[in-house]
Amino acid sequence: MTPSDLPTYADVLAAAARIEGHVHRTPVLTSSQLDAEVGAQVFFKCENLQRMGAFKIRGAFNALARFDDAQRRAGVICFSSGNHAQGIALAAKLLGIPATIVMPQDAPAVKVAATQGYGGKVVFYDRYREDREQICRELARMQGLTLIPPFDHPDVIAGAGTAVKELLEETGPLDALFIGMGGGGALAGSALAARALAPACQIYGVEPEAGNDGQQSLRAGHIVTIKTPNTIADGAQVQQPGEIPFAIIRRDVADIHTVSDAQLIESMRFFATRMKLMVEPTGCLGLAAVRQFKSALAGQRVGVLITGGNIDLTRFCSLLAEPA
Ligand SMILES: *Cc1c(COP(=O)(O)O)cnc(C)c1O
Repeated sequence: MTPSDLPTYADVLAAAARIEGHVHRTPVLTSSQLDAEVGAQVFFKCENLQRMGAFKIRGAFNALARFDDAQRRAGVICFSSGNHAQGIALAAKLLGIPATIVMPQDAPAVKVAATQGYGGKVVFYDRYREDREQICRELARMQGLTLIPPFDHPDVIAGAGTAVKELLEETGPLDALFIGMGGGGALAGSALAARALAPACQIYGVEPEAGNDGQQSLRAGHIVTIKTPNTIADGAQVQQPGEIPFAIIRRDVADIHTVSDAQLIESMRFFATRMKLMVEPTGCLGLAAVRQFKSALAGQRVGVLITGGNIDLTRFCSLLAEPA
């Protein structure tokens, strides 16, 4: 993509109009206790309270709402065992489009059930022997399906940007914004919204320490690929940022920080006990970074995107039970 092909704030606005009435306008919450701890005013955009439990429905719905008649009839396909699968399955159901989701045979049963519960047709593959992208492309070609990837797609990025658009409409200009990063779709979309609505706002991405492909890429000035990282932040277990997100991130993002799994657990505990919010580990990246960098944020107005809340209860409890 050349710079003139990258999605813009106009695409975020168009996405906002498409998803209105189909996707929740999630609440913005604050905690006076946290504000006292960090010495700043922090505003949380709660996408853990979004339909299907994460911001992914925004990009999925936006992408599918743009299908032409032939694409709608044939259907959509994606590969994911996480929130993108559920986002595509739900958006497809809302729009009456058939959805095929390619998942590893050993995907967690709850995720398979959630995707099927939204009406998605799950196709399994053996992740030790088969290449999921190849399976996807083959199915797409044979059945005329349209592939929607989880982050490297302009409509997915524009849809993701609607969350920060809503946040800034509610809070007014912010000094800093912290966005969890996997492939960078949420970060890039957020940057498009923030550049337009709060031009002075510093935008930061946040990755798990073990999976700092985005940070390495930003510092190197080109996309760096790493091994699949070992982290509890399963929504950020990617090997490299997407090409389209990275082009926007390079242009608009101030820096990318990292946090440890222990810091993520601390933030999960904070959300649960102080704010009564159930947040998945990946959804805690933003808060963990705010707490780490609080000395630099003194007196500022800070936005945090809580990206999602999907975690099964047993895992949630066992993570919180680990000694602090
Ligand atoms: C997908 C996801 C992310 C990462 O989003 P990218 O667009 O891939 O950077 C972060 N948190 C949650 C909960 C997610 O589902």
